[in-house]
Amino acid sequence: MKLNYNRTKIVATMGPASAKKDVLLAMIKAGVNICRLNFSHGRANDHKEVIDTIREINEQYKTNVGILADLQGPKIRIGLVKDGGIHLVNGTRINITTHECIGDDNQIYITYETFPQDVQRNEIILLDDGKIQMKVIETNRLDTVVCEIMHGGILTSRKGVNLPNTKVSIPSLTEEDLENLKLALEWDVDWIGLSFVRTGQDIIDLKRIIAASGKAAKVIAKVEKPEAIDNIDEIIAATDGVMVARGDLGVEMPLEEVPLLQKMIARKCREASKPVIVATQMLESMITTPRPTRAEVNDVANSVLDGADAVMLSGETSVGEFPVIVIETMSKIIRNVEDLGYPFNTNKESNTDVSSPNYLSDAVCGSAVYLAEHTNAVGIVSMTLSGYTAFEISSYRPKASTYIFTSNKHLLNALSLVWGVRTFYYDQLDSTDQTIADVNNILKAESLVLAGDVVINTAAVPISKQGKTNMLKVTVIE
Ligand code: PEP
Repeated sequence: MKLNYNRTKIVATMGPASAKKDVLLAMIKAGVNICRLNFSHGRANDHKEVIDTIREINEQYKTNVGILADLQGPKIRIGLVKDGGIHLVNGTRINITTHECIGDDNQIYITYETFPQDVQRNEIILLDDGKIQMKVIETNRLDTVVCEIMHGGILTSRKGVNLPNTKVSIPSLTEEDLENLKLALEWDVDWIGLSFVRTGQDIIDLKRIIAASGKAAKVIAKVEKPEAIDNIDEIIAATDGVMVARGDLGVEMPLEEVPLLQKMIARKCREASKPVIVATQMLESMITTPRPTRAEVNDVANSVLDGADAVMLSGETSVGEFPVIVIETMSKIIRNVEDLGYPFNTNKESNTDVSSPNYLSDAVCGSAVYLAEHTNAVGIVSMTLSGYTAFEISSYRPKASTYIFTSNKHLLNALSLVWGVRTFYYDQLDSTDQTIADVNNILKAESLVLAGDVVINTAAVPISKQGKTNMLKVTVIE
């Protein structure tokens, strides 16, 4: 099957618009690398059906589409409100209660039991993506908080609540998350996303549960709270990847700060060799129209230029009218930047910490990229068992294609998220010479390299020990 291969990957959120096999297949052909299952919506059965469809496609068409299960985290919502919604008028007051009720002009229910204890006078409460704003007037510290409406409007059922100034005491993994996590691990997904991450410890706790289950899923920290920005270094150190979740981040932080935060997070992730996804409203207008706005096209292109590993679609592919056209559009924008303006090989300092256990293999990976550039190599061809070499080489954003061979089946689809990486299964460990000849031949058979092309091979020698990358070879394909 002919696939679109851009270096910057596409994450597509699944939903009713994209669940059918023919639609999903067309989206994958057009460039989807990772399918995201959003556990804030949909039933477990729906998610499982989508997973089965993705796996069928991977099997049938030899694709490596990965799966990201995105846990809701401590998302706070209001409860049901009376039919037609309630009209909140500026300057009036309303009670927020922790007792479940149908909301009306006097009170609304909040799904956050310790809200009256956690909140302080004058703190700001944002509802429905920040469209409605309230201020805390008083709390009885038991079950009711009196608020004044600052910016009113019509409030309908189950809208999200953001508390940018409040120290929220709900744990990062709620009971619902733990149930969904159990399912996601049973289904052997490649990536688990955790929403509203606040500290590195949130990630460590999640990783402990994954390790105890014996599964190999990697973790994406969704950065969408001011606390996560304050603790960004420890979060990046603890996680396997990051999502700049601009939807909630733009409600919890001043909107105008998001563009520079995106650049800061992308830069730090690249320095740490961790993949970064830029998410939300990238081609939002395409939920209902087949052509994006010019500003959206710029946003996707600029996110690619910021160094994102992947750009993400949410409503555009889960409920939008044009799930295939939106992928084609995103692929075209990415391709154009990568062909005409992508700053390959820039601004990546190699690891200078000689005490780091990866110091030597980092040096080999950095040198592979340097050599590839100076020999006009078409590919960097690497073996990895843990995936470390793939993350490291990708972080240099080499112009040569990155072909990763592994006997670790978990990596085949997981690495689809990582910038520029294409994976292949290979499990022979006879000798270094044989392995290099084999992997180069596989690429030649796939017409990815031609006779006379230069490739840079990396491996861990002796190959049977499956240690850290310690060898480089410049090969001219025969
Ligand atoms: C976001 O807030 O940008 C985001 C991706 O989170 P979710 O879609 O899970 O609300």
